[in-house]
Amino acid sequence: MPFMFSSLKLAVRAACVAVFLLVCGVTFTRAQDQTPPMAEPKVITPGTNGAPPLDAIVLFDGKDLSQWLGTKGEAKWIVKDGVATVNGTGNITSKQEFGDVQLHVEWASPAEIKGEGQGRGNSGIYLQGRYEVQVLDSYNNKTYFHGQAGSVYKQYPPLVNAARQPGEWQTYDIIFRAPSFDDGGNVIKRATITVIHNGVLVQDHVEVRGTTTHEGEPKYTKHAPKQPISIQDHGNPVRFRNIWVRPL
Ligand code: MG
Repeated sequence: MPFMFSSLKLAVRAACVAVFLLVCGVTFTRAQDQTPPMAEPKVITPGTNGAPPLDAIVLFDGKDLSQWLGTKGEAKWIVKDGVATVNGTGNITSKQEFGDVQLHVEWASPAEIKGEGQGRGNSGIYLQGRYEVQVLDSYNNKTYFHGQAGSVYKQYPPLVNAARQPGEWQTYDIIFRAPSFDDGGNVIKRATITVIHNGVLVQDHVEVRGTTTHEGEPKYTKHAPKQPISIQDHGNPVRFRNIWVRPL
């Protein structure tokens, strides 16, 4: 009898496993059914050595700042030897407006170290003119964590400090998804930001908490779906080159 009893238990177990596998199979098939229809991806000619891919909108190719405006009229940052340098004339703002984007920016903080903390090599990339990815000389430079290079300013510190030495060229590759708002001005989908700094992931699809603010809680203010990109003049001669964007 004990032998028959254990055979029965084995049979019940086998039946349970069979039902489990069947359920898994059905679930898996359903998940597969929900895959969107396939379409052939568009063919893109990629850039080499950081050069823009062929489908990118080039915002600065080293020649001039004709794609940008200053605080009053034309952008007046110094352009020389393929590089634009902050010179105290104020932020520059792209003439074109964007929603979701992939953005590539190369920047270098001054080789000669001046100042400390937020006063050293400070600039910033303002997605939609209001959500700042901080630019700062963060090489052996102490400051608050959510204010160093690669931070979403005053909201998220970078996952790691991937800063190069002062004067060296650094890259930001940013994926930005714009927020959306209802008719009453409430945010219904927060903006998200992913940042790769010098090839290293430093922001992983974080939800932006609102317009960048130096003091107090950030909050959203309704704006149009497309807005320009701005770059900050924080009074330090930060250099920029090779800026391009791909609307997503
Ligand atoms: Mg800044």
